[in-house]
Amino acid sequence: MPTVTCPKCNRSYDIDAATVGMECECHCGHTFTAQVKPEASIVIPAKPKPSSAAASKPTPARPVVNGTVSTLRTLGYICIFCGFLLILFGLLEEYVIWIFIGGSTVISSVFYFAVALIIDTLLKIQENTQLLVEKFNDKARQD
Ligand SMILES: [Zn+2]
Repeated sequence: MPTVTCPKCNRSYDIDAATVGMECECHCGHTFTAQVKPEASIVIPAKPKPSSAAASKPTPARPVVNGTVSTLRTLGYICIFCGFLLILFGLLEEYVIWIFIGGSTVISSVFYFAVALIIDTLLKIQENTQLLVEKFNDKARQD
């Protein structure tokens, strides 16, 4: 994100790339043209530093699995919704088959929720175990 500095009071602001070159007003009341400092180009070499630090730390696969869990939950909600719609339709039109399909759809949603819950619980156990192992390692290093 580009940064501009008020020439009067030296206050810095993070601005949108689209704002560069536009007139802006500082909190001090001074109006100036938003010009990105040449320092911005110096910032770029510093970028690899956090990325290499992030690379040294293995990032857990949690976001991907979290996506799976939320997808399962969404499917569960959709199934409950559809199931009740089918049951309602069956009740209104007196179609036993629709009530039956609706019922099994609701049951399958329970299955989705259960699988999501199991994955979530396993992940939590895994995370807690990792935390415990890290704590244990820290203690071992201190001793
Ligand atoms: Zn200012």
